[in-house]
Amino acid sequence: MTVIVAKELATALAALREHEDARVIQGGTDLMVEINFNHVKPTTIISLRDIASLRTIRQEVRGLLSIGSGVPYSIIEGEPVLSAIPALAQAARTVGSPQIRAAGSLGGNLGTCSPAGDTLPVMFALDAMIHLSTVDSTRVVSIHDFMTGVKRSIRQHDEIITSVDFPIVKGWQGYSKVGVRNAMVISVASACLVADHEHADVRIALGSVGPTIIRCRESEAWLKANQDLSAGAFISPQLAEEFGKRAAAESSPIDDHRSTAQYRRHAISVLASRLLRKAYP
Ligand SMILES: Cc1cc2nc3c(=O)[nH]c(=O)nc-3n(C[C@H](O)[C@H](O)[C@H](O)COP(=O)(O)OP(=O)(O)OC[C@H]3O[C@@H](n4cnc5c(N)ncnc54)[C@H](O)[C@@H]3O)c2cc1C
Repeated sequence: MTVIVAKELATALAALREHEDARVIQGGTDLMVEINFNHVKPTTIISLRDIASLRTIRQEVRGLLSIGSGVPYSIIEGEPVLSAIPALAQAARTVGSPQIRAAGSLGGNLGTCSPAGDTLPVMFALDAMIHLSTVDSTRVVSIHDFMTGVKRSIRQHDEIITSVDFPIVKGWQGYSKVGVRNAMVISVASACLVADHEHADVRIALGSVGPTIIRCRESEAWLKANQDLSAGAFISPQLAEEFGKRAAAESSPIDDHRSTAQYRRHAISVLASRLLRKAYP
């Protein structure tokens, strides 16, 4: 196996175009597992780890935080992400162990595109935009179009994810996940809720309960039609419970080695209802 350690994005892109079965690697916390189990056998690996431009966090446009695909979770957990996009910092804090968080990245979470990826519900709830580059082109794609199925995305072989744009929303946001234990765990069910006080609406996205992340558009519309969602509004326990049930009804879980579909639905109804009550204490 040939390993190319790229120092510049252009070098990595050129190598990716040249080698048809090449795979890019950032932290390696997903890819090395796949290689060690012989699930994939690339002849060329292109390391992105030394490309400084992929490891930056920028706020060039007002109201938007742009996070490089190579920024590790250990950085995302802290400032400036913690204040600007607290749900993303919370999601980052739940990933694996300190060692996994020091290496694992947003780009890798998107590259793998598992419905259990912890940062993906946050991207769906915030309508994040994904930046992709090839040797001779760039494009920006909504996360809603990016993920197409279980570990499937629209990313082409010769594209590298360079960054993710997150809108900074005025209001409250949170991420919660349920797993088989408290730490080092892939989620059985997860949810990100964003209460946008400026637009008086609530957005919720669910992980691990469908082939893609699920944005609960019907529950969101029902809530907006039945409840004042501006800052300081009061949410009754009954309404929060009904919202949880509606969110669970929009999920599409399966039975697998981690959980039953029935438990996953129950977990979603509890997570959604709790997050809503936290958003409007
Ligand atoms: C012990 C353990 C615990 C874990 N716990 C969690 C958890 O709690 N939550 C969770 O969500 N995940 C978890 N994971 C999975 C993994 O850590 C995450 O998915 C992480 O985000 C992967 O990032 P990475 O940089 O290591 O990706 P890599 O392994 O380097 O790459 C993963 C995939 O993405 C592609 N890729 C990487 N960067 C790019 C890029 N810039 N452009 C295009 N493609 C790219 C690679 O080719 C590969 O296909 C765990 C993994 C382990 C081993």
